[in-house]
Amino acid sequence: MPNKINKLAVLTSGGDSPGMNAAIRSVVRTCAYHDVECVGVYRGYEGLIEGDFKQMDARSVRGIINKGGTILKSARSEEFRTKEGRQKAYQKLVDNNIDGLVVIGGDGSFTGALIFNNEFGFPVMGIPGTIDNDIFGTSHTLGFDTALNTVVDAIDKIRDTASSHNRLFFIEVMGRDVGHIALNTGIAGGAEEILIPEEDLGLDRLVDSLNRSRTSGKTSSIVIVAEGDKIGKNIFELKEYVDENMEGYDVRVSVLGHMQRGGSPSCFDRVLASRMGVKAVETLLEGKTNYMVGLIANKMELTPLDKAIKGKTKINLELLRVSDIMSI
Ligand code: ATP
Repeated sequence: MPNKINKLAVLTSGGDSPGMNAAIRSVVRTCAYHDVECVGVYRGYEGLIEGDFKQMDARSVRGIINKGGTILKSARSEEFRTKEGRQKAYQKLVDNNIDGLVVIGGDGSFTGALIFNNEFGFPVMGIPGTIDNDIFGTSHTLGFDTALNTVVDAIDKIRDTASSHNRLFFIEVMGRDVGHIALNTGIAGGAEEILIPEEDLGLDRLVDSLNRSRTSGKTSSIVIVAEGDKIGKNIFELKEYVDENMEGYDVRVSVLGHMQRGGSPSCFDRVLASRMGVKAVETLLEGKTNYMVGLIANKMELTPLDKAIKGKTKINLELLRVSDIMSI
């Protein structure tokens, strides 16, 4: 029989993403539903080391499901990377009679949680919260859907000005290692080309493709560029290259940046966060540890944390083909 869990803690760590508040709310209310005490930890692992805790009950998370960011704040903690830092964190948890920890964050946060569990045997559970959708074991991370909607909205607005002036716009979106945001928003925003880290389109092909677009009658073009695209030029260098190698184009650049992380979570992310919080708490109450909850084929599933950390997400090849056909 697993030790009975009477008190859980929840924290948010790494980059924030829309839906983290909805997940905190779900963890807190699921604890209340099962008569388990719940403690919120401020500033991720930093607050865990310092014992920056706050007792939370069902009413303390009212009015946050629609809020972006995280009410518990997020942080990156260098001290938690050290054994001494993790020892302090463990002591704070023991001193406060806490029996398990829910970590809402990305793969770095999960790596920290797993190391912590291996050292102290402390039960941990992960909820994937990042806009990049780069975590193995879930079709959607928390915040991805909201970020897509935010980016598409921005592309639509830029399209209005692009078509009024016959302009070519390079729009940079987040995605250092993966092109999920670029590929999905590129298709939804009707982009002429999409540059992603997984594929090297090549500069010549990009120029050919833009020339083809123009001769086929298009008067404005939008190219979506993921931060980590393989062409090897940043978005300003891309503009320079096109300026030098293509005539008659008025080229502009827009870097969407941190606005992609913000905003009120979409309906999808609120529902996903609510489901993940319930599953994370109930899995800990069953005595299980070292899992990440995820959405697979519209069901809540568990993936061992080490697999979630090591596994790679793959770009959807069908989407690549659809984007090629759509940009004819
Ligand atoms: P994002 O996807 O937004 O970057 P993340 O969870 O991957 O989110 P990181 O900055 O990589 O963000 O990690 C968050 C925190 O997790 C770090 O600041 C550190 O405290 C902890 N962490 C990461 N890797 C380790 C590790 N190898 N050992 C101990 N702790 C770690």
